Amino acid sequence: MDDCIFCKIVAGKIPAKKLGENEGAIAFPDIKPEMPVHILVIPKRHLASLDEVGDGTVMAPVFALAAQDGTVMAPVFALAAQVAREQGLDKTGWRAVINTGRDANQVVFHLHLHVFGGRRMSWPPG
Ligand code: AMP
Ligand code: ZN
Repeated sequence: MDDCIFCKIVAGKIPAKKLGENEGAIAFPDIKPEMPVHILVIPKRHLASLDEVGDGTVMAPVFALAAQDGTVMAPVFALAAQVAREQGLDKTGWRAVINTGRDANQVVFHLHLHVFGGRRMSWPPG
């Protein structure tokens, strides 16, 4: 997409320090880090948001880079996008969060994704 800043990074027209790459995704540092580590992992294919995720195939390489296992996470994100749409959250916005480990306050140690929506949220999280 012509006027998308992240597509320009994918195309090499805007510089970014590549931290990882696979067939469908790249990882690079956030330009304005909100945390000591703040990395963005994006699909090479332009998708405006999770609201455009139909199945897991686009997100699989993103999660392969982020977590070394796209095959597990692809269906999780496909389903998250589906239920969010079914709840009408694609009209108002929503947030997908996966708390991982102590610093993120993960309490239940079975991987789970939160779909947040229905009210205006603040950013960054505390
Ligand atoms: P979001 O609020 O989820 O859309 O966050 C977009 C993120 O992209 C922000 O944290 C920005 O700091 C980051 N960002 C914007 N432009 C660049 C860039 N050229 N390189 C790296 N990160 C960027
Ligand atoms: Zn794009």
